[in-house]
Amino acid sequence: MYECRNAKHFFGLILLDILVFSICTVFFFTGKKLLSSSADVNSEKSVFLPVIMYHSVFSGSPEKYIVTPVQFENDLAWLAENGYTSVTAQQLTDYVNDRGNLPDKPVMITFDDGCYNNLSDVLPLLEKYDMHAIVSVVGQYTDVNAENDPHIPSYSYLTWDDINRLIASGRVEIGNHTYNMHSFKGDRKGCSKNPSENEEEYISALTEDLNRLQSEIHEHTNTLPVVFAYPFGFISKESMPVIRELGFTITLTCSERPNYITRNPECLYGINRYNRSGFYSTEEFMNKIFKE
Ligand SMILES: [Zn+2]
Repeated sequence: MYECRNAKHFFGLILLDILVFSICTVFFFTGKKLLSSSADVNSEKSVFLPVIMYHSVFSGSPEKYIVTPVQFENDLAWLAENGYTSVTAQQLTDYVNDRGNLPDKPVMITFDDGCYNNLSDVLPLLEKYDMHAIVSVVGQYTDVNAENDPHIPSYSYLTWDDINRLIASGRVEIGNHTYNMHSFKGDRKGCSKNPSENEEEYISALTEDLNRLQSEIHEHTNTLPVVFAYPFGFISKESMPVIRELGFTITLTCSERPNYITRNPECLYGINRYNRSGFYSTEEFMNKIFKE
């Protein structure tokens, strides 16, 4: 009995040793792997990415949100001459998920609101300079305004046919800019939370609006946007669960700062953009946005 107890004690100690050794081994290798992977991430330099926000491009007088086709062409010529490559939402998403690389000098070109001149005046110049862009549309503008009064470069919006032509060009990806929250309604600015509603009410209203435009874009174009542009740059943190739930992987703001892109997908939420005001020359604007 005594011996038996001793033998049990002896084998118990051996088992304990094996267990401790196994745990140490697992921690050693796992810890080493974690340390080396974080070192890999840290050693990889983040990528400097300025993003340009345009709206309307037509032959009129330049305004804060209007540039002329000549100004737009000067911008593209400057980018091309200085070796910049416009990147797509797909390229950015691939990069942060470690499925691809970005060009040496990347820039992103975006358009908000879905103006018809993005097709009539912008697309031919994107083709001429081999550039790509994201056009974020407002559902109601396309459904109602564009259908009622189409194809005037100074004020019309893109119809669903126009949007399909942009997609078919292979140069434009479509983003969501809300179905009907591109406004100031009561205390709600853009799609931000109205202070008088609770979180549940806000999430319900935002989901209904964004989902409506996602569904319509899918129905009309057979594509589903991954980019969401906050109207006027008004952001509520409560929007994030809705954004993720609906499958958006990139959100665009109006904060005028550069971006530093890493291999972490989270860095694509809250992309900063510089508004291309028509009041600047190309050189003035480019000097501002490419200053690291
Ligand atoms: Zn807008």
